[in-house]
Amino acid sequence: MSQIETNLQKIRKEIDKTAQTFGRNPSDVSFIAVSKKQPEERIDAALKAGHRLFGENRVQEAKERWEKRRAHYADLILHLIGPLQTNKVKDAVALFDMIETVDRPKLAKALAEEMKKQGRTIPCLIQVNTGEEEQKAGVLPQDLDDLLAYCKEAGLDIRGLMCIPPADDAPGVHFSFLKTLAEKHGLPTLSMGMSGDYQKAVAAGATHVRVGSAIFGTRQ
Ligand SMILES: *Cc1c(COP(=O)(O)O)cnc(C)c1O
Repeated sequence: MSQIETNLQKIRKEIDKTAQTFGRNPSDVSFIAVSKKQPEERIDAALKAGHRLFGENRVQEAKERWEKRRAHYADLILHLIGPLQTNKVKDAVALFDMIETVDRPKLAKALAEEMKKQGRTIPCLIQVNTGEEEQKAGVLPQDLDDLLAYCKEAGLDIRGLMCIPPADDAPGVHFSFLKTLAEKHGLPTLSMGMSGDYQKAVAAGATHVRVGSAIFGTRQ
């Protein structure tokens, strides 16, 4: 068994255990392997181990990496978890199965139009800047209601919320806050938790955790 297969199994077990501890169904938590900036052979090891759900944060890098592999793995699922520029919307809609980083009306509009053009409806999440950090992507919590209303109007299929807590804050507070926001709007999907805090996220109600370095090791 490869180290990566071992890591995948270990983390999946941790997710399941935490879900059970907190009275949740383990099958309600999806495990996204974040493959950004990882060497190709590590991606192939994860695929060989049977993993099919991956997250990437750059459209161009994801396209180069996954377009050819897609043909061999019909059950592959790709999430965009990084900021999206409107000039990359066309490629993003063609490649990804979920876009987790909708954070402004202009992007929502461009996505809705491109999906219509391509005849391809992709579920989306809204990224919330829960720590209100200046340099970070995501809609400010106080602007979420308006953005959701705008997305609905534009015809975008918004399933839930995503966040990346500030690096030096306790993440649990942000996870609980995101859950509260999602519940307020009746949104079922919550993407939160990374290598260092995915158990806390599962405890707080994550339906998707995004784990990179704990599976693949340090990025290039
Ligand atoms: C890189 C990245 C991750 C994975 O981070 P790790 O600490 O390596 O698990 C998760 N979410 C987003 C949005 C990322 O950009």
